[in-house]
Amino acid sequence: MPRTDPNRVTLAQLQRRSSRTSQDVDEGATPTLRDLAEALSFSPDDGRIWLGDQRMVLWRSSTFGSLRAELIARLGQEQARSLLTRVGYAAGARDAELVRRTWPDSDPVNAFHAGPQMHKLGGIVRPEAIAFEFDIARGSFHADFWWHDSSEDDEHIAAFGIGTEPACWMQIGYASGYASAFMGKFIVYREIECRATGAGACRLVGRPADEWEDPELDQHYFAPELSAAGIRRSLAEPAIGVAARPRGLAPAARSGHQSALVGISSSFSAARHLIERVAPTPATVLFSGPSGAGKELFAQTLHAISPRAAAPFVAVNCAAIPDTLIEAELFGVERGAFTGASSSRAGRFERAQGGTLFLDEIASLSFFAQGKLLRALQERRIERVGGSREIAVDVRVVAATNVDLRAEVRAGRFREDLFFRLNVFPIALPPLKDRRDDIPLLMEAFLRRYGEQYGRRVAGFTPRAVQALLQYDFPGNVRELQNLIERGVIMAGPDEPIDVVHLFRGGEMGASHGLSPGPDGRLTEHAALAGRRGPAAHGGEPHADMYRDALVAARYNVSAAARALGLSRAQMSYRLRRLGLL
Ligand code: ZN
Repeated sequence: MPRTDPNRVTLAQLQRRSSRTSQDVDEGATPTLRDLAEALSFSPDDGRIWLGDQRMVLWRSSTFGSLRAELIARLGQEQARSLLTRVGYAAGARDAELVRRTWPDSDPVNAFHAGPQMHKLGGIVRPEAIAFEFDIARGSFHADFWWHDSSEDDEHIAAFGIGTEPACWMQIGYASGYASAFMGKFIVYREIECRATGAGACRLVGRPADEWEDPELDQHYFAPELSAAGIRRSLAEPAIGVAARPRGLAPAARSGHQSALVGISSSFSAARHLIERVAPTPATVLFSGPSGAGKELFAQTLHAISPRAAAPFVAVNCAAIPDTLIEAELFGVERGAFTGASSSRAGRFERAQGGTLFLDEIASLSFFAQGKLLRALQERRIERVGGSREIAVDVRVVAATNVDLRAEVRAGRFREDLFFRLNVFPIALPPLKDRRDDIPLLMEAFLRRYGEQYGRRVAGFTPRAVQALLQYDFPGNVRELQNLIERGVIMAGPDEPIDVVHLFRGGEMGASHGLSPGPDGRLTEHAALAGRRGPAAHGGEPHADMYRDALVAARYNVSAAARALGLSRAQMSYRLRRLGLL
C-alpha cells in the first residue's frame, strides 16, 4: 500500500484543475485588449498596417459586402458560404498562432479569450462571452457567445434583407479556426440565432465537431467542394432563396475512412480540388512535394474517386527497387529471361490493368528504365523482360517526385520527353509547415486512429503538447506528425493526455528538457534539435547512424557514400532524404 501523501494530487484532481471556464477570465492578465491594440501598428509611410508580424489592410465593410454579394451571385449560396467559412477558419487559426507566439506565457483562458478580443479590435463584431469552458487535456470544449453588431450581418442584410438562414459564415469559420488551433482538435461553431433572421443579436455556440448531432447540417462547409457535379448543382441553384439541402458530404476530418484526406488550408483545398477535377479523366497526374507530404494518399484518393475505382491501385516506390530489377518489376518477366527467372510473372503494369499505377520517387528511375516507361506510356503496350509478345495495357499512370523534375531534366538526369509525358496535370503538395491550419485536424484524426488501433482511450493533449506541435517545423511532414502521435498514444498512460515527453523522445531532446519558447516566442532551439533528430522521428529506421557515418566519411559525396554501402546513388539519396539527412 502506498503511503498517503497529503501533498499528492491525483490525476483526476489535476484534470479538474486544468479545466477552465469563463469565470477564470482575468481582465488584467495578458493579453489584454490593450496588449492586442499595442500589437497593431500603422506604418503609413510604407503603406503597411501590422498586427504583430502579419500584414493587415483597412477596407470598407461595404467592400467586403460587395465581394460577398458577388460571390453569392456567382457561386451560389452554398459555395459562397463554404468559401467564406474556410477563409474565416484560416484567419482564426492564424490569430491563434499569433497569440501563442506573442504571449507564450499567458494563461490559457486569457489566450483563448484573445480570439474574440482580436475580432472586436478588428471592428468586425463585438463578442460577449455567455459562458465557455474547455479542458485541452481532455479534449472537452464548450463555448457560448453573443455576437453583437456583426459587420457580416450588416452587409448581408443590406444586400438580401432578413431571411431564414443565419449569415455570419466567416464568423463561424473564424471562431472555429481559432478554437481548433487553440485546442488541437476540430471545433465547430454554429450560429443558433442570427440578426440576418431577425434576432436582436447573433449567438454562436462551439463544440468539438464530433459532439454535434447532425454533422451533415453544416460541417461540409468546412471542406472544399468535393465534386464537379456539386459545383454544377450549386451554380444551378438560385443564389438566395430556399435553403439548399446539404449534400451529405462528410468533411474530411470526420470521415472514418483510413485514406481520408484531412485538411482545410488553402493549399490543401487547392490540391484536393485539382484531384476532383482530374479524377474522371484518364490524364496522367504528377504529384510533387517533399517526402511525407501525403502524395500516396492523394494518389489513392484520386484512384478511389475515379471511374477506375473498382480496378486495382498498384503502388511502386521506384527508389526502393534496384536498377537491375526495376524493369522486371514494372513490366514482368518471361520464364528463362535470365538466371533465376524460373517462371513467368506479370509486372506491376499488368497487375494494374484497368486501374491506376502509382510510381513514387520517379526521379530515381535509371535512364534506361525511363525509356521503357516512356514507351509504355506512349504506346500503351508493354513487353515482359525476355518476352517477344506485346501486351496491351489500360493503366492510368500517376507519378510522384520529391525533387524538382525540371532541374533533373536540366541536369541531364531525367528524360525531357518523359517529363512532358508525365507533367500533363501537375499537383503540388506543400510541406506541412506551410499549411499549419491543417495541423489541429491532423492531430485529432491521428489521435482517433491510433487510439482505436491500440485500444487506448486518449482524450487529448496537454496545452504544452498542442503548443509544441503547432509550432514544430515537421521536416518529415504529415508522416512525421503521424509517427509522433502514434508514439504519443503508445507512451501516454491510461486516461492521461499526451504530453511533450510522450511525443519527442529523441536522444538529443531528453524527456526532462521539455519545450520552452525562445526569445521570439518560437521553439527555435528545440525545433532545430528535433529537426536534426529526423531518424527517430520516422521510427523504424535503425540505421540512420550508418548512413550518416558513410556520408561524413565520404565528405558528403552521396555517390561515394552509396558505393561504400553497396547501394545505387538513387537508393542512397532516397534513404538520406527519408532520414532527413539530405
Ligand atoms: Zn449573424
